[in-house]
Amino acid sequence: MIQATLEAPFSMKGRGVHSGDFCSVSVFPAEENHGLLFVRSDIEENSSIEASYKNISETAMCTRLSNSHGIAINTVEHILAALVGMGVTNAVIKVSGEEIPILDGSADPFVREILAVGVKKQSQKRKILKILKYLRVEDGDRWSSLSSNDHFSIHICCDFKKNGLKTEAASFDYAKNNFSEEIAPARTFGFFAEAEFLRKNNLARGATLENTVVFDENGLPMNESDLRFADEPMRHKILDIIGDLSLSGYQILGKFESFCPSHKMNHQILATLFQNPDNYAIVT
Ligand SMILES: [Zn+2]
Repeated sequence: MIQATLEAPFSMKGRGVHSGDFCSVSVFPAEENHGLLFVRSDIEENSSIEASYKNISETAMCTRLSNSHGIAINTVEHILAALVGMGVTNAVIKVSGEEIPILDGSADPFVREILAVGVKKQSQKRKILKILKYLRVEDGDRWSSLSSNDHFSIHICCDFKKNGLKTEAASFDYAKNNFSEEIAPARTFGFFAEAEFLRKNNLARGATLENTVVFDENGLPMNESDLRFADEPMRHKILDIIGDLSLSGYQILGKFESFCPSHKMNHQILATLFQNPDNYAIVT
């Protein structure tokens, strides 16, 4: 696999789902071996934040990155998923505001812009991280694991029974599935029963039925538009995993499995992975 960047920059603007504030993002091409870098364009000094698991500072509702000067960007996972899902390994992501715009709640608007400007293949090979050992993290009865595999695949199971939805399983396999059509359009979701808690705690201030699929107590969507997929929440979980795992800085060669995946465990498994160099090998 070859490294790639964008043929030309693109820009988007909207509101942050958590802050509710207006923000904008512009993505620029970058040279080979640059990787993905965030820059707060509204801040003059110390405004760069490398897209690395080392910079994850919060995982409660979304993935937040912060640099050593306390400069932060929230909700990085959807734009990261769009870039790596479309094969873009080198880019500078300039953000005005403390959050990436939520747009329609999926990665689809970013993917459309990436397709519109074009993906430019570069000459050097991509850095690939091959999983060598079985790794597992737990959070109560939730768990996530990474194990060796000859390609990258994701297999998840979610228990939404208390929210009126069925327990479901879903998989994504880069060798067989199409990211832009099967995963990118899946929107952020939530449950009406939790809305009061979020309001009281000043969370999800930018969430609306235009950017979030909200399920009522019977597990039925309250949005006027239909679900984009019968298992849209499952696909969105896979989208978040692709975005979060990109913070490894590598294309992962391995199998990711999880019961009730979360941003928190996505971070924990990367921290566990890099704790011991015997867990992986870097190959091209
Ligand atoms: Zn998400």
